[in-house]
Amino acid sequence: MQKSITSFFKPKTEGAEVPVTPKKEKSAPKIITKEESPPEAKKPKIKSEDEEDTENIKMETSQDETKVQPKTEPKSPAAKKVTPMQLNSAAPVSQEEEENYDPSMETYHPLKHAYWKAKGVTPYLALARTFQVIEETKGRLKMIDTLSNFFCSVMLVSPEDLLPSVYLSINQLAPAYEGLELGVADTTLMKAICKATGRNLAHIKSQTHLTGDLGIVAEQSRVSQRMMFRPAPLNLRGVFQKLKEVAKISGQSKMTLVYDVFVACRLSEARFFIRSLIGKLRIGIAEQSLLTALALALVKKNHHEECKLNKVGDVYKDEIAETTLLLKTTYCQCPNYDIIIPAILKYDIKELSTRCPMHPGMPLRPMLAQPTKGVHEVLERFGGMHITCEWKYDGERAQIHCNEQGEISIFSRNSENNTAKYPDLIARSKNFIKKPVETYIIDSEIVAWDVERKQILPFQVLSTRKRKNVDIDEIKVQVCVYIFDLLYINGMALVTKPLSERRKLLLEHFQEVEGEWKFATALNTNDMDEVQQFLEESVKGNCEGLMVKTLDEEATYEIAKRSRNWLKLKKDYLSNVGDSLDLVVLGGYRGKGRRTGTFGGFLLACYDAENEEYQSICKIGTGFTDEDLKVHSESLGKSVISGPKSYYRYDSSLEPDAWFEPVQVWEVKCADLSLSPIHRAAIGIVDNERGISLRFPRFIRIRDDKSSENATDAQQVANMYQSQDQVKNNQKICTQMDMESEFY
Ligand code: ATP
Repeated sequence: MQKSITSFFKPKTEGAEVPVTPKKEKSAPKIITKEESPPEAKKPKIKSEDEEDTENIKMETSQDETKVQPKTEPKSPAAKKVTPMQLNSAAPVSQEEEENYDPSMETYHPLKHAYWKAKGVTPYLALARTFQVIEETKGRLKMIDTLSNFFCSVMLVSPEDLLPSVYLSINQLAPAYEGLELGVADTTLMKAICKATGRNLAHIKSQTHLTGDLGIVAEQSRVSQRMMFRPAPLNLRGVFQKLKEVAKISGQSKMTLVYDVFVACRLSEARFFIRSLIGKLRIGIAEQSLLTALALALVKKNHHEECKLNKVGDVYKDEIAETTLLLKTTYCQCPNYDIIIPAILKYDIKELSTRCPMHPGMPLRPMLAQPTKGVHEVLERFGGMHITCEWKYDGERAQIHCNEQGEISIFSRNSENNTAKYPDLIARSKNFIKKPVETYIIDSEIVAWDVERKQILPFQVLSTRKRKNVDIDEIKVQVCVYIFDLLYINGMALVTKPLSERRKLLLEHFQEVEGEWKFATALNTNDMDEVQQFLEESVKGNCEGLMVKTLDEEATYEIAKRSRNWLKLKKDYLSNVGDSLDLVVLGGYRGKGRRTGTFGGFLLACYDAENEEYQSICKIGTGFTDEDLKVHSESLGKSVISGPKSYYRYDSSLEPDAWFEPVQVWEVKCADLSLSPIHRAAIGIVDNERGISLRFPRFIRIRDDKSSENATDAQQVANMYQSQDQVKNNQKICTQMDMESEFY
């Protein structure tokens, strides 16, 4: 044990070799010193299935091909003024035209520049070039604009490629809740790259260590590869299909499939194909940016004949805002592009929400609550409104669905399918039905349950329950479900109805069953003394505190929102911070003294979804028992990586002894948040130069119900910082001073 833990630490001298890349690489890839060409005998002779259709070109590529094209307007034939005749001609596409495809151009035309229009099938290279241009772009709006130009071309030229384009842009293969994941192991990919390029594994590994990006290494390895025959160009639909196949199979066949596509990759295709497989595209397009780009593309498509694309943003501002809102709202109730994309291509956008309704079996993004720092804040927020307080149970959120076939599905807070984890709940799902129901969606919290003492057990007990392939006869941790909302009943969505009405329907159709199904203990009151007393009772009942909710006014179920209509009031709220943070563990520091042989401290980060990066927020060494440290060292030891990921943002003075994959999320409490010259959390939101860090952070528990991308995000960190009393007071003083100086 001791030995294996010590081996995670790389010697300090070794660390010096690893270039620290605190900033996300946005610039053109660095060219790595060219490796000796592999010996002639080892050079692969690549023959693809499509070889018969392909002109057999004997070619030898050069390193120069990797150089990212300067951002000038391409001089390709497509960029010239063309007649409608030419637009439709099936003239062969020149290599220059393909290589220079640039949807970020000011003069981009969705038809003229869609060089694939004659074939009607989108080349994978067009998407890879789009990603490449986006990766080199700094501003978010420009990135979205570029993606929307590409989507607009696809909508007009090859609409059936829009769905795979969308999935590839967010690196998904299917709706997130179906759980079809890529994330192929680095070694499998490295082996496929070696096989295709004749390079040796050690070289690929060392280059990856240097650049921190197997995608770039793959791209550069492809370039210096000699080929006898050029395989047929890849098309976007085909690559998407192959990725789906890769996700479904395992073992050697996975490697073979990767190899098959990889050998046909040209230029930056290799980079993005490999990054897709790793599970990190690194172009900075997350879900919200994608939806905005789609909305913008729709408006551009509608007006491309009467308006230049780069002017659409100004001329059709209102239409863009409306389309974006409609699309985002629809996505929250129906997070499934397989349904949304055909609908936006076929129907008017105003019909989207009715064409893509919420439906049992498809998870809704849950409504979330705002943290508060005490009962006084509840009073400030809700004033004279009717409110209800519910016990805040400490377990795992569960959205329980029953569809027309009577099939039950259980989804987690992150919309992951947890059905297989709770066969016991499925087996007793009929027990709590009072009045016959065909379909329903309820919102609830599953907690561990002590059957003998008939009481709630702490969250830690629930977390020991097996997650996959749970056999109902072997379940050791029993659970009870506390229901707090009803979102859908018998074909009717209830989310636009007030909580009082939803609650009435809940009590009408369902009943409590001791130790199995319970309604959240609630008290409707506007008396703050009663709220305080109810808070204390909830703690005695083994709960975390209260959820305070509006009942009638502003009381709809706000899908996917961290709403101000739900406030959380935790038992141990710290007078200053109000809530704990869920942070990602990026690295570990060697323990000293009693902690020798394990990690004694860790580097934590929040997640910045906008930039798809983890931003350091604090070092932590408090709150751990010796046993905790052993357990963390052992589990994190399995995630040690040779260097920081390029999407880790930190100051080099914080360099830990070991870096980890971003796999673990920890709940952490702190005394307060302050601006920091070395940490990078929320940098640019509150202050342009400084990030935010935690003072006196303390480990509470592992949040294994949260993925690292669901960690506390940069905006939440900024909000928490700004809501601190001393910051608010300071702001007040500053505003006062501004007013006074204006006066004089
Ligand atoms: P968040 O979900 O706000 O990001 P979190 O996952 O850390 O934060 P908490 O801050 O502890 O969760 O509070 C919200 C969670 O409380 C809900 O997601 C839900 O799982 C749980 N919960 C327990 N009881 C209730 C209740 N009566 N009403 C709503 N949520 C409840």
